[in-house]
Order: sequence, then C-alpha cells, then structure tokens
Amino acid sequence: MPHKWDVETDVAVVGFGAAGVAAAVTAHDLGARVVILEKAPRGEHGGNTRVAGQGYLNTASPVEAAAYLTALCGPYTVPPAMVAAWAEEMCRNNDWLKGVGGDPQEHQHPPVGIEFPDLPGAGCVHKFHDGPTYGYSFTWKRFESLVEQRPIPILYETPGRELVQDNTTKEILGIRAERGGEAVYVKARKAVVLTCGGFENNQEMIRNYLPGIAYCYTSGSPYNEGDGIAMAMAVGADLWHMNNYAGPSMALKVPEVRTTLSMQALHFSKQMPGGMIVVGPDARRFCDEKYKTRHGKVPFHGRWLPLATPCPMFMIFDDTLFRAGPLYDMHPSHGWTQIVERYEWSADNSAELAKGWIRRADSPAALAELVGLDPAVLAETVARWNRACGDGRDDAFGRSLMLAPLAEPPYYAVELSPSMLNTQGGPRRNERGQIVRPDGTPIRRLYSAGELGSIYSYLYQGTGNIGECLAFGRISGRNAAAEPRWE
Ligand SMILES: Cc1cc2nc3c(=O)[nH]c(=O)nc-3n(C[C@H](O)[C@H](O)[C@H](O)COP(=O)(O)OP(=O)(O)OC[C@H]3O[C@@H](n4cnc5c(N)ncnc54)[C@H](O)[C@@H]3O)c2cc1C
Repeated sequence: MPHKWDVETDVAVVGFGAAGVAAAVTAHDLGARVVILEKAPRGEHGGNTRVAGQGYLNTASPVEAAAYLTALCGPYTVPPAMVAAWAEEMCRNNDWLKGVGGDPQEHQHPPVGIEFPDLPGAGCVHKFHDGPTYGYSFTWKRFESLVEQRPIPILYETPGRELVQDNTTKEILGIRAERGGEAVYVKARKAVVLTCGGFENNQEMIRNYLPGIAYCYTSGSPYNEGDGIAMAMAVGADLWHMNNYAGPSMALKVPEVRTTLSMQALHFSKQMPGGMIVVGPDARRFCDEKYKTRHGKVPFHGRWLPLATPCPMFMIFDDTLFRAGPLYDMHPSHGWTQIVERYEWSADNSAELAKGWIRRADSPAALAELVGLDPAVLAETVARWNRACGDGRDDAFGRSLMLAPLAEPPYYAVELSPSMLNTQGGPRRNERGQIVRPDGTPIRRLYSAGELGSIYSYLYQGTGNIGECLAFGRISGRNAAAEPRWE
C-alpha cells in the first residue's frame, strides 16, 4: 500500500486503444469517474487500433455468431459462457456506436471478407467502419473523440507498472504507474481495467509463447510490450491463448525503423513485373510466396497452421522488379510504419540499396555469397523456378500469381523477418470481463478487454479484434462501474 495516492478515481483504464475507449466511455456514462493511463506520448497513442485497417465486426445473430466462433476455436475450445457473452455483445457494436454519435458503415467493396466461409455460422460476418471509408485511422478518430468529449483525463507517457493488491482480500486497489522515472500511484476505488494490448514488441515473450519462431516484429504499435501480462501474472492471473497470433507474414525489419516495412511484391493482391521468390537459410523455396494466408495461417494436411518462416529468409528478385517502382508498400491506409513513422522509401529503391537494406550482385551465385547462402543451391533454386515459369506451373507449391522468371540481371536480395499484426494471448477473463486465477475464480476489481487475453484461441476472423475490443470493453466497463467503492 503506498503512503499516498497521487491520483484518485473510480475506474483506472490502462491503455488508450479501442478496448480502453469502450471501457472508459461505458464506465463514465454509467456515472463512474474514469482516468486513462497511456504509455505512449500524445501523438503515438491509439495502439494497434489507430493503425489498423479500421474494420470492426458486428455479427448478424447471436446464434450464428456463437456457432461461427465455436468453429473458429476448433479443438482449442473456449467455455460456452464466454462464447455466448461474445456472441450476444458482438451483435450490439453498431447500436452502441450509433448511440454515442458514431456513423457505422458496412464495408462495401468485395470480397466482404468472410475468412472461413465453410464454417457453420459464417454468414453472421458483417464488417463495419466509421467514416467515409475504411483505413486511414477514421474509426480510431471517432473512438478518440468519444473520450475527448467527456471529462476523462488521459495521462500520457504514464505506463502502468504494477497492480496494488490488498494482501488479505487479494482485491485490486489501484495501480503503480511511472512518469519520467517517478512512481505515480493511482487509487481506483471501483476497479482497474487492463486494455494495454498484447506482446507484439516483446521478443522474449515471443520466443516463449509463439509457436516455432525465434523472433517476430510488429506492424502495429511498438508500445505493446506485454506489460499487462506481467502485471496480471504478478497478482495471480491465469493466461490463455498465448500461442495464437495474427501472423506471421514476411516483411523487412531494419534497426532504423521500429516496425516492419511491407514488401508490395509479396502481397497477394499486387501484380508486379519481374521475377521474385523467397528462400530460407538452405537457399530453397518453402512456400507459395503469394498465397493469401488467413491472418498468417495456411492449410496443412487438413488443418490451418501458422506459415512456417525459417529465418533468415530472403526475397530474391531481378532487375525488372527492382526498376518497377518502390518495393515498399507506402500506401498509408494502415500500419504503424506507414501512418505514424512515415518512412519515406525512395521512388527508385536507390536509397535503400545504398543503405544495404537491398543487396545486389550480377548472378544468383554471387548474390548468395553476399548474403551468406550456398551459391550452388541458390543458383539451382533460381534455375528451377525459371523452368517452372516456362512450364507455366509451380509444381512445388502451386503458386499461380506473378509466375515470372528471374530473367534480368543484376539480381537482388532483401532479408525478410516474420511480421505480425497482433498477439491474441494474455490473462484469461470470464464472461463478466474479470481476470481470473488458474482455478477460475475472479481477481476482484480487476478487468480486461481487447487483444490482451482475447477470446480467439485458433482461427481468426478479420475485424474480430476491434469488434471484441468494443464488446468486452463495454462488458468490463459496466461491471467495473457497478463495483462498490472500497474505503
Ligand atoms: C496493421 C494492422 C491492421 C489491423 N487491422 C485490423 C482490422 O481492420 N480490424 C480488426 O479488428 N483488427 C485489426 N488489427 C488488430 C487490431 O488493431 C488490434 O487487435 C486491436 O486494435 C487491439 O486493441 P486494444 O485496445 O486491445 O489494444 P491497442 O489498440 O493496441 O491499444 C493498447 C494501448 O495500450 C498502451 N499501453 C501498452 N502498455 C501500456 C502500459 N503498461 N500502460 C499504459 N498503456 C500501455 C499502448 O501504447 C496502446 O496505446 C490490425 C492490427 C494491425 C497492426
């Protein structure tokens, strides 16, 4: 127990993304005093929500939604009470947003984006955004404005560090945050709601929890470092869904930029001239480079598994592609690097060649020498790919897009790393939004929402994360507001 509290409130919300907004606005509108703690400085707040594609799920019927979520979970089952809570609340996202002055618009242009149309209940999927179109932070700007319209103080650059727990009752009384190296004790007389995102930027947690990858980098907020997981574990929380994440894809990561740079040629929807393949450390191809993964998962012997990403991986390509324009997908509709960091990639790729992000050589064998691959094997891999293109068939991996040979020297290489949108794991919560212990009992006055301990245990339906932020943000916000004040 601190000697003095620096800030007093009813509900302390930790993290200013979609989940934090839904929890804070709901608790406030039910009469609670609310404070938001945010780790990032003003201007870099908003988390993954701000740089997301901006779609959120609003399901058509609770029955269909429950069937679809159950099927998405597959063998990684989630308790029926949780599925039911998700399904009921997911149908109310539009009503809620309209009720607080928003303007829900259904995504229009095809495909609608049902990720697993063959699963039962898939027809429940309806994807919405707020604003003239999706992308470009429009939905986030609406969320942000909801907080700004209310007397909800936001303490920027004030990360939550440790929950204050009563030694006897084990209930949560507040949180120790930090600002400029000094402790800031926040007394939360009703509850603390953790909405501080996942562990996308915590390499140790990635190694410990994500399946089969030694490292992975985020295309979202670099401030999401798993702090909520550490804080919840320290007060006895159970964890769930730690091995599930929206990834991997393959992207460039360089020390100069905090988040990943996406390569246009690798996107399933981009047709570019020139030849391009991806190889692993053995200098051989390992996948259909242009496959549209389901948020990182690919079919494997009748199951969906995360794409295997043997590191280091290299995108190998020819001069035609190099000269076809910027390799980096600069379209700023989503992604931290595009929206917040705004790295200016050169129009002719020359600056990145000069920096050594792109390597160049006169032959595949010489390129292999430069990047540490076996020259003979890479030469053979390129020759085999070129023959497959000549035959019009990729027998190895069935690739059908950009089936073009690496024809024009010189040749180029870009090292690729696994990249992700977000993690799904974190402290386990119940249908009231309470964080629970391994035995299932709730830790009193401690709630969560959003991707910090999300419900998604296996397959993921796009827009499900922000949809869940709103659904469980409201559930946790109203239950936190209903707690009696402690004295
Ligand atoms: C490029 C991209 C595109 C995506 N597109 C979509 C999409 O279209 N639809 C969809 O549903 N999902 C999408 N996702 C996933 C989705 O954006 C996230 O899962 C969701 O926004 C998470 O919201 P959140 O509120 O839980 O966390 P966030 O929005 O990440 O917010 C967490 C906040 O907590 C702060 N924080 C971290 N640690 C602390 C601490 N110790 N103390 C205080 N604050 C802290 C962070 O700075 C951040 O502001 C996308 C993700 C990415 C990266």
